[in-house]
Amino acid sequence: MTGAIDNHDRAAPIFTPDAFRLTDQQAALIARARTFGARVLAPRAAEHDREASFPLENFRDMHAQGLLAICIPREEGGLGADFQTYCLAAAELGRYCGATALSWNMHVCSTLWSGLLADDLPMEASERNAHMQRRRKHYRRIIDDGAIYAQPFSEGGAAAAGTVAFGTEARPVDGGFVVNGKKIFASLSGAADYYGILCTERAQGEVANRRNTLYLAVAANAPGVSVVGDWDPLGMRGTVSRTLLFKDVFVPEQEMLMPHGVYFQAATRWPHMFLTLSPTYMGLAQAAYDFTVAYLRGEAPGTPRVLRRMYPTKQIAVAEMHIQLEQTKALWFQAITEACADPTKEQVLRAYAAQHTVMENANAIAVKALRTCGGQAMLKSLPLERIYRDSRCGSLMLPWTAEICVDRIGREALYEPGEKDE
Ligand SMILES: Cc1cc2nc3c(=O)[nH]c(=O)nc-3n(C[C@H](O)[C@H](O)[C@H](O)COP(=O)(O)OP(=O)(O)OC[C@H]3O[C@@H](n4cnc5c(N)ncnc54)[C@H](O)[C@@H]3O)c2cc1C
Repeated sequence: MTGAIDNHDRAAPIFTPDAFRLTDQQAALIARARTFGARVLAPRAAEHDREASFPLENFRDMHAQGLLAICIPREEGGLGADFQTYCLAAAELGRYCGATALSWNMHVCSTLWSGLLADDLPMEASERNAHMQRRRKHYRRIIDDGAIYAQPFSEGGAAAAGTVAFGTEARPVDGGFVVNGKKIFASLSGAADYYGILCTERAQGEVANRRNTLYLAVAANAPGVSVVGDWDPLGMRGTVSRTLLFKDVFVPEQEMLMPHGVYFQAATRWPHMFLTLSPTYMGLAQAAYDFTVAYLRGEAPGTPRVLRRMYPTKQIAVAEMHIQLEQTKALWFQAITEACADPTKEQVLRAYAAQHTVMENANAIAVKALRTCGGQAMLKSLPLERIYRDSRCGSLMLPWTAEICVDRIGREALYEPGEKDE
């Protein structure tokens, strides 16, 4: 093991279990993620970033660690993490490889939404029973075979922001659906075994309606599925988020990840489901801060042992970063702890504020880290410049981009539902 890895291994948890009142079980699972991130993800991150290649071997290793099944309920053979525990574990992975943590989130959501979220929403007994049967099949694929699920919903129009129905459509036919459409920015494209798409169920002659959004797992090798376009972005390069095309793809009914109408209910009643992109960026914020402290102490792996911590300007910069990090952690921790069905207005506004804060502050802290550490710290042989580029991507991610969060907080703080200015 190299010195760099030893150093990572000694990293303190982002959220100390005692201070944040975590149970021993939570602490153990989060520690497992942190150790895995330090030992397995960190040494591979630079290459996947440079090559813009998907870290498939990380997912194989996550399968061996049980991490692909982190949110699969215990009674189904998974680790049974709740929303808060998942977010805290994901933040630990984000410290070491943003692209892996973000891609892992897409995979985990297929189990979180079909599991914990669906359990929280009302369904007829027969419908729940059918859902339990269907989801078991997905869970077995993940647990037994290490199947990887992606979560492509973006289309380049207004649907991903939640304002109109998805343009990708599923036409009901005997035994399932025929899917046609296009998804952009599909992380894990070409690597996932299943694409958990959001699409509009629409029979011949029916008008497209958001209430009929269907959450379907499309096998990557199904006839009519193709991956097109290139992927050479600023950051999060290892996510390999290319374009997916679906041309008359038959998807059996058994591949529904949620029953008819339940996704729409979830999106309106369980809004914290859209907070799951933030843990990766919480981890990146911590990583930028950690790097800065280690660098100024002359302890950053791969750098000469030069002390820079005695300069008052460096101390002030670190103090400002620390304050910003603690503010981010406090708000985010509160928001992920409040996730539930039918949250109060105050909780929803706090979730938007937390998402905005994490996404913007992760990049702000990384910017300050670069300025404070200086020119040698931006070399590609060190992780900071990757953290800086990766951290820029968070605010752009729908449905809760930084702009949309501001938009909603402003409107929902000033208007009660249904209120108008006459
Ligand atoms: C690294 C990375 C990985 C990604 N992975 C995935 C993935 O796996 N699956 C997936 O589905 N998507 C993924 N995305 C896509 C992402 O969620 C967005 O869909 C994508 O960045 C949208 O870009 P756009 O320019 O088309 O946005 P546009 O729709 O053109 O919007 C541009 C900006 O306008 C603002 N805006 C848009 N609509 C509204 C509105 N109604 N009200 C107010 N403001 C609005 C937003 O701030 C938005 O950022 C990924 C993105 C990145 C950067």
